Amino acid sequence: MITKLKLSKFRRFYVTKILISHDILQSRKGESMKDKKVKLPNRVPTKQILKILSSLYPEAKCELLYRNPFELLIATMLSAQATDKKVNQITPFLFQKYKAPEDFLALSQQELEEEIKQIGLYKTKSKNILETCRILVEKYNGEVPKSREKLESLPGVGRKTANVVLSNAFGIPAIAVDTHVFRVSNRIGLAKSDQVLETELQLMKRIPRNLWSNAHHWLIWHGRRVCTARNPKCEICSLQPYCQYAKENKIVQLKKN
Ligand code: SF4
Repeated sequence: MITKLKLSKFRRFYVTKILISHDILQSRKGESMKDKKVKLPNRVPTKQILKILSSLYPEAKCELLYRNPFELLIATMLSAQATDKKVNQITPFLFQKYKAPEDFLALSQQELEEEIKQIGLYKTKSKNILETCRILVEKYNGEVPKSREKLESLPGVGRKTANVVLSNAFGIPAIAVDTHVFRVSNRIGLAKSDQVLETELQLMKRIPRNLWSNAHHWLIWHGRRVCTARNPKCEICSLQPYCQYAKENKIVQLKKN
């Protein structure tokens, strides 16, 4: 009897694992997320948490400077492993000189490297930006495509960049999981995973679709201002009563006088 029970638990565990891995593989191919079986790890008061975040950051938005989908695509590509602040220091000048993919294509890779050399990984980024601009001109008439699959096929554009462009430039709901969203959502308990994609799938399942883009900004803003990577300010955090990390670390909120 005990052996049978153990065997069925064992099977259930591996079937669940296989289902999650299958979902991840499918989504990597750019297929629809609809109807995918994503297992939520724990019960958390999602509504309450989102309500607090929305009241803390009603003005939250993308902090990269851009005026159109093309500029957002380039700014997001530049922001990989660099801060938005650093990217914003160079893009206004860059976009003043080079407004469209054709303008970038007039540059050699060395010339573009010179323009963006204050940003980390500038050599790889220059190569990817030029190749992306070439594809935009040749395949998409110089426009940024609105499809995840097409965006992800561009050099230097991964799932996170595609999500940023889809949600901010085209208003298509998406949750881009960057370092802040990953850290904050896993600390709070909205997600429970050491994988970026699995975190995104769990957030998509837990958060109503019409709030995906807002929630993405709220979590980033909270991560930058309160739930910082080192020394999160739990004692003053409004989410503390609902936060798994605070519970596990027995953190008590400071009483307001
Ligand atoms: S209580 Fe602490 S860990 Fe939880 S969200 Fe707030 S700052 Fe982050």
